[in-house]
Amino acid sequence: MPRILVIEDEDKLRWALQRGLTDEGYEVEAVEDGGVGLAFAMQGPFDCLVLDLMLPGNDGIQILRELRAGGFSTPVLILSARGALEDRVRGLDLGADDYLAKPFAWSELLARLRACLRRKAAVESGMLRAGRVDLDLVHRRASCGSRQVELTIRECELLDYLMRRVDQVVSRDELAREVWREPEAVKTNIIDVYINYLRKKLDGIGAPALIQAVRGVGYAFRAKS
Ligand code: CA
Repeated sequence: MPRILVIEDEDKLRWALQRGLTDEGYEVEAVEDGGVGLAFAMQGPFDCLVLDLMLPGNDGIQILRELRAGGFSTPVLILSARGALEDRVRGLDLGADDYLAKPFAWSELLARLRACLRRKAAVESGMLRAGRVDLDLVHRRASCGSRQVELTIRECELLDYLMRRVDQVVSRDELAREVWREPEAVKTNIIDVYINYLRKKLDGIGAPALIQAVRGVGYAFRAKS
């Protein structure tokens, strides 16, 4: 049973998260104070943190910074009313795994949480799976059944990013920022070029049409083509 730590000072939301996530089969600890939350997180072990940003005691950004500085790699899903791009980028830069702006749909929270937990399992095993495709992050190989193909570093990072967000649309801006780590990359066709490389390689191992273009937005890796 995955253990989740919720750090959220808004009573109604904290109660709803505790009850809702428990109903989903998670083991949940929920605290309202940032300082208490940080201490809990460090005692762990937790499989994922659901972290608010504006908190009494230590705020969410401080908690995240201290955890990462202390070598804790627990996945962190930030949950905050501060949906501004700079807050989101700051959180992700500090090592948050994902960011969800309030108010959010319950189904979206569950999907993001599952993605964080899959990511943790993948990092621990070095393997990632989405649909029929397996990605070996250590040897940089994608496989489908008995067929496999080697990937370049960039191809592997791009596929890794898309597969972790299976069935979610990822914008070209996000790919430029998170995979290329150069926001300006979005102004060239480099992302589309690499998407085509990946499509050809996946096609070659019998997993065609999984990376779909979403017009005017970006791309999505589909579990099923
Ligand atoms: Ca708050």
